Amino acid sequence: MYHKAQNQLVTVKVLQPGEWLFHEGDAGDCAYLVESGEIQIVLERNEDFIPLGIYGPGSLFGEMSIIGDQPRSASAFAQSVCQLRMISREQINRRLDQADPILKVCMSVLIGHLKKSLTQYDEPVEEEISLDERLRRAADRAISNSLSKDNQAHSNNPSKTATPSQKKVTLAEPVPKDIFDKAIHTINLENDLTKAIKEGELTLFYQPIIHAMTGKLAGFEALMRWFHPERGMISPADFIPVAERSGQMVEMTHWAVEQACQDLVIMRDNLLASLELSEYISEQMFMSVNFSSRDFLDQSLMDTVQDLLTTYDLPEKSLKIEVTESVLVSSPREVTNALNDCRDSGASVAIDDFGTGYSSLSYLQTLPADTLKIDQAFIRPMHQDERHLALVESIIHLAQRLDMVTVAEGVETEADAKALASLQCDYLQGYYFARPMPAKEILLWADNKWGRA
Ligand code: C2E
Ligand code: CA
Ligand code: CA
Repeated sequence: MYHKAQNQLVTVKVLQPGEWLFHEGDAGDCAYLVESGEIQIVLERNEDFIPLGIYGPGSLFGEMSIIGDQPRSASAFAQSVCQLRMISREQINRRLDQADPILKVCMSVLIGHLKKSLTQYDEPVEEEISLDERLRRAADRAISNSLSKDNQAHSNNPSKTATPSQKKVTLAEPVPKDIFDKAIHTINLENDLTKAIKEGELTLFYQPIIHAMTGKLAGFEALMRWFHPERGMISPADFIPVAERSGQMVEMTHWAVEQACQDLVIMRDNLLASLELSEYISEQMFMSVNFSSRDFLDQSLMDTVQDLLTTYDLPEKSLKIEVTESVLVSSPREVTNALNDCRDSGASVAIDDFGTGYSSLSYLQTLPADTLKIDQAFIRPMHQDERHLALVESIIHLAQRLDMVTVAEGVETEADAKALASLQCDYLQGYYFARPMPAKEILLWADNKWGRA
């Protein structure tokens, strides 16, 4: 699908009336969403076409050979000018790989049924046909061949010979509109994201994290941003889940963790080099990077993490890997092992969005983590509701007992910051101190905050 010569992703196909899209027996490399026009699916039998169905706007076809991993079981041509959106074999397979095993079984059974229903059009096996019958059919075929001999357009212009109107052919039921629109949106976003990764449209913003007791700058959290050339900035809440489902996330985390380490060293050295600022900067600055569950199953990413610690000569615990509570709760053994390996090589591990994962507390002591990030959902209502304050206090005590440090997220007011400091929360992060920003703005931000004090 990726046309290297043109260096661009081909994802839309436009067909003219009568143009073939694929033939029975071809290797299937993608499925198609019909955006406009009509496609007819036929079986090519003895110089004739058996129409199977017509696919109009809002429908999907061509999925069978991908899911069933087999050649095309029928042929397809355009009845009118068609615009098709392609979904590649890889895009479908990546999703199938992640699918629930029961769902996979159901899909494979369904494909089996469909395949079977197509065999009704096959010729009966030769042994079952009498010699007379075989001779009669051969004669029929010879006559029909000679009749259609002068019709050279057969393979180029099927509409001339398919005469679908003479056969009963029905328009396929379109996919429900909301599902179809979502599929188009997702596939577009995914294709754009592939381009974004290749063309450097992704970037990292850094949000300062403050040491609560001293008020010093302790570190940063790296947060991904996507500047889409047409749609402007797209929130990570929109594109990270797409990348996680499509399997693109691992490549993105690879890039992010390397970029964040590189930027940490530059920002740290610049900040510490400033005589005015250095007293407000912690020498043991850390960089938090968000990881998704599948990242931990990728050995080369885990190797990269270890290499980066050496390459950038990062002191122990300078790189903090953030992983959400929900990932840890449902994590397979491999994730825990990978986190242990990361810690062994000098990285630290933070449990992100703590308190939102509905997990039992007993599991906490078994986790390979040294930091708890208290979710904003507890911080924001802290002042309106005494019970939230009590919860935050309990989380901090719990973390202390387990020898973990705490970071409060979503600190938006001075009152939040003061209350959390008095509860002995270790670190504070939120709009009250700074919004996430590009690396090159950090020095200016620090200078405004401390430099001219
Ligand atoms: P998160 O890891 O919980 O990140 C904190 C989010 O809270 C960020 O949103 C941050 O901008 C926002 N935030 C910080 N301070 C405040 C505050 O005082 N008030 C409020 N209301 N919000 C605050 P953002 O940058 O939009 O990121 C959203 C989520 O996307 C992140 O939540 C994280 O789950 C995910 N994400 C972002 N970058 C990455 C990445 O590089 N990799 C992965 N796997 N996920 C990422
Ligand atoms: Ca995070
Ligand atoms: Ca969080």
